[in-house]
Amino acid sequence: MRHCEACGREYPRDRPWRCDCGHALDYADPPASDGEPTDFDRDAGIWAFEDLLPMDERVTLGEGWTPLVDAPDWDATFKLEFLHPTGSFKDRGAATVVAEAQAVGADRVLEDSSGNAGLAVASYAARAGIDAEIYVPADAKAGKRRRIERTGAEVVAVEGDRQAVTDACLEAVEAGDGYYASHAWNPAFFAGTATVAYELAAQRDWSAPAAVVTPLGHGTLFLGAYQGFRALEGAGWIDEIPKLLGAQAAGASPIADARHGGSASHNDLADGIQISEPARADQIRAAIEDTGGDAVAVDERATRAAHDRLAAEGLHVEPTCATATAALRSFRDRGVVAPDDDVVVPLTGRNA
Ligand SMILES: [Zn+2]
Repeated sequence: MRHCEACGREYPRDRPWRCDCGHALDYADPPASDGEPTDFDRDAGIWAFEDLLPMDERVTLGEGWTPLVDAPDWDATFKLEFLHPTGSFKDRGAATVVAEAQAVGADRVLEDSSGNAGLAVASYAARAGIDAEIYVPADAKAGKRRRIERTGAEVVAVEGDRQAVTDACLEAVEAGDGYYASHAWNPAFFAGTATVAYELAAQRDWSAPAAVVTPLGHGTLFLGAYQGFRALEGAGWIDEIPKLLGAQAAGASPIADARHGGSASHNDLADGIQISEPARADQIRAAIEDTGGDAVAVDERATRAAHDRLAAEGLHVEPTCATATAALRSFRDRGVVAPDDDVVVPLTGRNA
Protein backbone atom coordinates (compact mmCIF):
# COMPACT_ATOMS: atom_id res chain seq x y z
CA MET A 1 0.00 0.00 0.00
CA ARG A 2 0.95 3.61 -0.49
CA HIS A 3 -0.13 6.33 1.86
CA CYS A 4 -0.15 10.11 1.97
CA GLU A 5 1.43 11.53 5.09
CA ALA A 6 -0.33 14.86 4.50
CA CYS A 7 -3.95 13.65 4.50
CA GLY A 8 -3.79 9.97 5.42
CA ARG A 9 -5.39 8.58 2.23
CA GLU A 10 -4.24 5.13 1.14
CA TYR A 11 -3.75 3.76 -2.35
CA PRO A 12 -2.87 0.45 -3.99
CA ARG A 13 0.75 -0.27 -4.77
CA ASP A 14 0.48 0.39 -8.49
CA ARG A 15 -0.18 4.08 -7.92
CA PRO A 16 3.27 5.47 -8.68
CA TRP A 17 2.83 9.06 -7.75
CA ARG A 18 0.84 11.67 -5.95
CA CYS A 19 -2.24 11.66 -3.77
CA ASP A 20 -5.50 13.30 -4.85
CA CYS A 21 -4.55 16.09 -2.42
CA GLY A 22 -1.36 16.75 -4.40
CA HIS A 23 1.16 15.41 -1.89
CA ALA A 24 3.72 12.74 -2.77
CA LEU A 25 3.02 9.16 -1.63
CA ASP A 26 5.16 6.89 0.53
CA TYR A 27 5.15 3.25 1.55
CA ALA A 28 2.41 2.67 4.10
CA ASP A 29 4.49 0.02 5.82
CA PRO A 30 8.18 0.16 4.90
CA PRO A 31 10.23 -2.92 5.84
CA ALA A 32 12.17 -2.69 9.09
CA SER A 33 14.79 -5.01 10.48
CA ASP A 34 14.58 -6.38 14.00
CA GLY A 35 17.82 -8.37 13.73
CA GLU A 36 21.49 -7.50 14.02
CA PRO A 37 23.53 -6.25 11.07
CA THR A 38 25.24 -9.15 9.31
CA ASP A 39 28.05 -9.41 6.80
CA PHE A 40 26.41 -8.07 3.69
CA ASP A 41 27.36 -9.63 0.37
CA ARG A 42 28.86 -6.77 -1.61
CA ASP A 43 28.63 -8.75 -4.83
CA ALA A 44 24.85 -8.44 -4.49
CA GLY A 45 25.10 -4.65 -4.81
CA ILE A 46 22.22 -2.74 -3.24
CA TRP A 47 20.27 -6.01 -3.13
CA ALA A 48 22.50 -7.06 -0.23
CA PHE A 49 19.99 -5.01 1.77
CA GLU A 50 16.96 -6.93 0.49
CA ASP A 51 15.48 -7.14 4.00
CA LEU A 52 15.21 -3.36 3.99
CA LEU A 53 14.00 -3.08 0.39
CA PRO A 54 10.24 -3.34 -0.28
CA MET A 55 10.74 -5.00 -3.70
CA ASP A 56 9.94 -8.52 -4.75
CA GLU A 57 11.73 -8.36 -8.07
CA ARG A 58 15.37 -7.52 -8.71
CA VAL A 59 17.07 -5.66 -11.53
CA THR A 60 20.78 -5.01 -11.39
CA LEU A 61 23.64 -3.60 -13.42
CA GLY A 62 26.07 -3.87 -10.52
CA GLU A 63 25.02 -0.71 -8.64
CA GLY A 64 25.99 0.05 -5.06
CA TRP A 65 28.97 -0.37 -2.74
CA THR A 66 30.73 2.67 -4.10
CA PRO A 67 34.10 3.35 -2.44
CA LEU A 68 34.67 5.70 0.47
CA VAL A 69 37.94 7.62 0.09
CA ASP A 70 39.71 10.14 2.30
CA ALA A 71 39.69 13.71 1.08
CA PRO A 72 42.23 15.35 3.42
CA ASP A 73 42.24 18.65 1.51
CA TRP A 74 38.53 18.98 2.21
CA ASP A 75 38.73 17.49 5.71
CA ALA A 76 36.02 15.06 4.63
CA THR A 77 35.39 11.61 3.21
CA PHE A 78 34.02 11.24 -0.32
CA LYS A 79 31.69 8.46 -1.40
CA LEU A 80 32.30 7.90 -5.08
CA GLU A 81 28.75 7.67 -6.39
CA PHE A 82 29.92 8.72 -9.87
CA LEU A 83 31.41 5.23 -10.29
CA HIS A 84 27.93 3.78 -10.75
CA PRO A 85 27.17 1.86 -14.01
CA THR A 86 25.47 4.82 -15.75
CA GLY A 87 27.56 7.44 -13.95
CA SER A 88 25.46 8.65 -11.04
CA PHE A 89 23.77 7.73 -7.76
CA LYS A 90 20.48 7.62 -9.68
CA ASP A 91 21.28 3.98 -10.49
CA ARG A 92 20.30 3.06 -6.92
CA GLY A 93 16.78 4.36 -7.41
CA ALA A 94 16.50 3.31 -11.05
CA ALA A 95 17.23 -0.29 -10.03
CA THR A 96 14.48 -0.31 -7.40
CA VAL A 97 11.89 1.69 -9.34
CA VAL A 98 12.29 -0.51 -12.42
CA ALA A 99 12.09 -3.60 -10.20
CA GLU A 100 8.85 -2.21 -8.80
CA ALA A 101 7.53 -1.44 -12.30
CA GLN A 102 8.25 -5.04 -13.21
CA ALA A 103 6.47 -6.29 -10.09
CA VAL A 104 3.28 -4.37 -10.90
CA GLY A 105 3.36 -5.67 -14.46
CA ALA A 106 4.29 -2.45 -16.27
CA ASP A 107 5.65 -2.87 -19.77
CA ARG A 108 6.62 0.77 -20.20
CA VAL A 109 8.18 3.30 -17.81
CA LEU A 110 8.09 7.09 -18.14
CA GLU A 111 10.52 9.59 -16.60
CA ASP A 112 11.38 13.26 -17.03
CA SER A 113 14.93 14.31 -16.44
CA SER A 114 17.66 16.72 -17.39
CA GLY A 115 20.02 13.80 -17.85
CA ASN A 116 21.22 11.43 -15.15
CA ALA A 117 17.87 10.07 -13.97
CA GLY A 118 16.72 9.64 -17.57
CA LEU A 119 19.82 7.69 -18.49
CA ALA A 120 19.59 5.56 -15.34
CA VAL A 121 15.90 4.68 -15.80
CA ALA A 122 16.37 4.01 -19.54
CA SER A 123 19.34 1.74 -18.82
CA TYR A 124 17.66 -0.28 -16.07
CA ALA A 125 14.49 -0.57 -18.16
CA ALA A 126 16.62 -1.91 -21.02
CA ARG A 127 18.19 -4.39 -18.61
CA ALA A 128 14.73 -5.52 -17.45
CA GLY A 129 13.29 -5.70 -20.97
CA ILE A 130 10.78 -2.92 -20.33
CA ASP A 131 10.18 -0.04 -22.78
CA ALA A 132 11.17 3.44 -21.63
CA GLU A 133 10.02 6.90 -22.67
CA ILE A 134 12.23 9.71 -21.37
CA TYR A 135 11.20 13.37 -21.47
CA VAL A 136 14.16 15.76 -21.66
CA PRO A 137 14.58 19.50 -22.20
CA ALA A 138 15.10 20.40 -25.86
CA ASP A 139 18.45 21.91 -24.87
CA ALA A 140 19.65 18.82 -22.95
CA LYS A 141 23.28 17.93 -23.56
CA ALA A 142 23.54 16.10 -26.88
CA GLY A 143 25.89 13.45 -25.51
CA LYS A 144 23.57 12.51 -22.67
CA ARG A 145 20.56 12.45 -24.95
CA ARG A 146 22.40 10.18 -27.39
CA ARG A 147 23.33 7.80 -24.58
CA ILE A 148 19.68 7.57 -23.54
CA GLU A 149 18.64 6.86 -27.14
CA ARG A 150 21.25 4.13 -27.48
CA THR A 151 19.49 2.11 -24.76
CA GLY A 152 16.52 1.87 -27.12
CA ALA A 153 14.45 4.32 -25.09
CA GLU A 154 12.20 6.79 -26.81
CA VAL A 155 13.42 10.32 -26.10
CA VAL A 156 10.84 13.12 -26.15
CA ALA A 157 12.45 16.57 -26.33
CA VAL A 158 10.31 19.33 -24.81
CA GLU A 159 10.74 23.07 -25.45
CA GLY A 160 10.53 25.38 -22.46
CA ASP A 161 11.79 25.21 -18.89
CA ARG A 162 12.29 22.18 -16.66
CA GLN A 163 8.65 22.39 -15.45
CA ALA A 164 7.41 22.16 -19.04
CA VAL A 165 9.32 18.86 -19.38
CA THR A 166 7.67 17.47 -16.23
CA ASP A 167 4.24 18.69 -17.37
CA ALA A 168 4.59 16.95 -20.74
CA CYS A 169 5.60 13.72 -19.01
CA LEU A 170 2.72 13.95 -16.53
CA GLU A 171 0.27 14.42 -19.36
CA ALA A 172 1.47 11.10 -20.79
CA VAL A 173 1.31 9.46 -17.34
CA GLU A 174 -2.26 10.70 -16.81
CA ALA A 175 -3.19 9.44 -20.28
CA GLY A 176 -2.12 5.97 -19.17
CA ASP A 177 0.95 5.70 -21.40
CA GLY A 178 3.04 3.91 -18.78
CA TYR A 179 4.36 3.64 -15.23
CA TYR A 180 5.81 6.85 -13.79
CA ALA A 181 9.33 5.93 -12.63
CA SER A 182 9.91 9.38 -11.22
CA HIS A 183 13.02 10.23 -9.17
CA ALA A 184 11.03 13.08 -7.59
CA TRP A 185 7.73 11.36 -6.79
CA ASN A 186 7.89 7.58 -6.84
CA PRO A 187 8.62 6.15 -3.35
CA ALA A 188 10.23 3.08 -4.94
CA PHE A 189 12.99 5.35 -6.24
CA PHE A 190 13.68 6.66 -2.72
CA ALA A 191 13.77 3.13 -1.31
CA GLY A 192 16.76 2.66 -3.62
CA THR A 193 18.58 5.89 -2.80
CA ALA A 194 18.18 5.00 0.91
CA THR A 195 20.79 2.29 0.33
CA VAL A 196 23.48 4.99 0.32
CA ALA A 197 22.91 5.29 4.07
CA TYR A 198 22.98 1.52 4.64
CA GLU A 199 26.30 1.23 2.80
CA LEU A 200 27.84 4.23 4.48
CA ALA A 201 27.06 2.84 7.92
CA ALA A 202 28.24 -0.66 6.97
CA GLN A 203 31.49 0.68 5.47
CA ARG A 204 32.13 2.57 8.72
CA ASP A 205 31.45 -0.40 10.98
CA TRP A 206 27.96 0.81 11.92
CA SER A 207 28.79 4.33 12.86
CA ALA A 208 27.15 7.28 11.15
CA PRO A 209 29.12 10.41 10.26
CA ALA A 210 28.28 13.71 11.97
CA ALA A 211 27.08 15.21 8.70
CA VAL A 212 26.33 14.33 5.08
CA VAL A 213 26.37 17.00 2.37
CA THR A 214 24.52 16.42 -0.91
CA PRO A 215 23.36 18.50 -3.88
CA LEU A 216 19.68 19.34 -3.34
CA GLY A 217 17.11 19.66 -6.13
CA HIS A 218 14.13 17.35 -5.65
CA GLY A 219 16.07 15.75 -2.78
CA THR A 220 16.36 12.31 -4.39
CA LEU A 221 19.61 11.54 -2.57
CA PHE A 222 19.04 13.87 0.39
CA LEU A 223 15.69 12.32 1.36
CA GLY A 224 16.82 8.82 0.46
CA ALA A 225 19.79 9.18 2.82
CA TYR A 226 17.51 10.56 5.54
CA GLN A 227 15.06 7.70 5.12
CA GLY A 228 17.92 5.18 5.21
CA PHE A 229 19.53 6.60 8.34
CA ARG A 230 16.16 6.68 10.05
CA ALA A 231 15.63 3.01 9.28
CA LEU A 232 19.07 2.21 10.71
CA GLU A 233 18.42 4.21 13.84
CA GLY A 234 15.05 2.48 14.21
CA ALA A 235 16.77 -0.91 13.95
CA GLY A 236 19.32 0.19 16.55
CA TRP A 237 22.22 -0.23 14.10
CA ILE A 238 23.36 3.39 14.49
CA ASP A 239 22.90 5.72 17.45
CA GLU A 240 22.31 9.00 15.71
CA ILE A 241 21.15 10.35 12.36
CA PRO A 242 23.72 12.64 10.71
CA LYS A 243 22.98 16.27 10.03
CA LEU A 244 21.53 16.42 6.54
CA LEU A 245 23.05 19.34 4.63
CA GLY A 246 21.90 20.38 1.16
CA ALA A 247 23.59 22.40 -1.58
CA GLN A 248 21.15 24.17 -3.88
CA ALA A 249 21.86 26.02 -7.12
CA ALA A 250 21.55 29.78 -6.52
CA GLY A 251 18.44 31.03 -8.28
CA ALA A 252 16.74 27.62 -7.95
CA SER A 253 17.12 27.42 -4.20
CA PRO A 254 13.72 27.61 -2.46
CA ILE A 255 14.77 25.63 0.63
CA ALA A 256 17.97 27.62 1.21
CA ASP A 257 16.31 30.95 0.41
CA ALA A 258 13.55 30.36 2.98
CA ARG A 259 16.23 29.85 5.62
CA HIS A 260 18.79 32.47 4.65
CA GLY A 261 17.12 34.88 2.21
CA GLY A 262 17.36 34.82 -1.57
CA SER A 263 20.13 36.12 -3.75
CA ALA A 264 20.19 37.68 -7.19
CA SER A 265 22.74 35.27 -8.60
CA HIS A 266 22.08 32.22 -10.76
CA ASN A 267 23.91 28.96 -11.12
CA ASP A 268 23.25 27.46 -14.52
CA LEU A 269 26.38 25.35 -14.24
CA ALA A 270 24.61 23.09 -11.73
CA ASP A 271 22.17 21.80 -14.36
CA GLY A 272 21.15 18.72 -12.35
CA ILE A 273 19.45 20.70 -9.57
CA GLN A 274 17.55 23.45 -11.41
CA ILE A 275 14.42 22.75 -9.36
CA SER A 276 12.30 25.68 -8.20
CA GLU A 277 9.49 23.55 -6.79
CA PRO A 278 10.75 20.34 -5.18
CA ALA A 279 8.05 17.65 -5.23
CA ARG A 280 8.74 16.80 -1.58
CA ALA A 281 9.66 20.23 -0.20
CA ASP A 282 7.87 19.67 3.13
CA GLN A 283 9.78 16.41 3.68
CA ILE A 284 13.09 18.14 2.88
CA ARG A 285 12.32 20.86 5.42
CA ALA A 286 11.33 18.24 8.01
CA ALA A 287 14.58 16.28 7.46
CA ILE A 288 16.59 19.46 8.00
CA GLU A 289 14.60 20.29 11.12
CA ASP A 290 14.87 16.78 12.53
CA THR A 291 18.63 16.44 12.06
CA GLY A 292 19.76 19.98 12.85
CA GLY A 293 20.69 20.26 9.19
CA ASP A 294 20.67 23.16 6.77
CA ALA A 295 20.65 24.14 3.11
CA VAL A 296 22.62 26.86 1.34
CA ALA A 297 22.56 28.30 -2.16
CA VAL A 298 25.80 27.93 -4.12
CA ASP A 299 26.64 30.33 -6.93
CA GLU A 300 28.28 29.56 -10.24
CA ARG A 301 31.70 30.90 -9.29
CA ALA A 302 31.98 28.72 -6.18
CA THR A 303 30.74 25.71 -8.15
CA ARG A 304 33.33 26.23 -10.89
CA ALA A 305 36.13 26.65 -8.33
CA ALA A 306 35.15 23.45 -6.48
CA HIS A 307 34.72 21.59 -9.77
CA ASP A 308 38.20 22.62 -10.94
CA ARG A 309 39.70 21.68 -7.60
CA LEU A 310 38.11 18.22 -7.68
CA ALA A 311 39.43 17.64 -11.22
CA ALA A 312 42.88 18.77 -10.09
CA GLU A 313 42.71 16.01 -7.47
CA GLY A 314 41.81 13.43 -10.11
CA LEU A 315 38.07 13.35 -9.43
CA HIS A 316 36.18 13.65 -12.72
CA VAL A 317 32.74 14.69 -11.59
CA GLU A 318 30.05 16.87 -13.11
CA PRO A 319 29.57 20.48 -11.96
CA THR A 320 26.29 19.76 -10.12
CA CYS A 321 28.22 17.41 -7.86
CA ALA A 322 30.73 20.15 -7.00
CA THR A 323 28.00 22.27 -5.39
CA ALA A 324 28.17 19.93 -2.38
CA THR A 325 31.92 20.32 -1.89
CA ALA A 326 31.54 24.08 -2.39
CA ALA A 327 28.74 24.16 0.20
CA LEU A 328 30.87 22.31 2.75
CA ARG A 329 33.03 25.41 3.14
CA SER A 330 29.93 27.52 3.70
CA PHE A 331 28.61 25.13 6.36
CA ARG A 332 31.95 25.29 8.18
CA ASP A 333 31.97 29.11 7.98
CA ARG A 334 28.46 29.19 9.44
CA GLY A 335 29.43 26.82 12.24
CA VAL A 336 26.89 24.19 11.13
CA VAL A 337 29.83 21.81 10.72
CA ALA A 338 32.35 21.93 13.60
CA PRO A 339 36.10 21.70 12.84
CA ASP A 340 36.42 18.14 14.14
CA ASP A 341 33.12 16.91 12.67
CA ASP A 342 33.34 13.82 10.56
CA VAL A 343 31.71 14.71 7.21
CA VAL A 344 30.82 12.55 4.21
CA VAL A 345 30.20 14.08 0.80
CA PRO A 346 28.79 11.77 -1.88
CA LEU A 347 30.28 12.73 -5.26
CA THR A 348 27.07 12.21 -7.16
CA GLY A 349 27.75 12.17 -10.89
CA ARG A 350 30.59 11.79 -13.33
CA ASN A 351 31.67 14.30 -15.89
CA ALA A 352 29.73 13.60 -19.06
ZN1 LIG B 1 -3.03 13.33 0.49
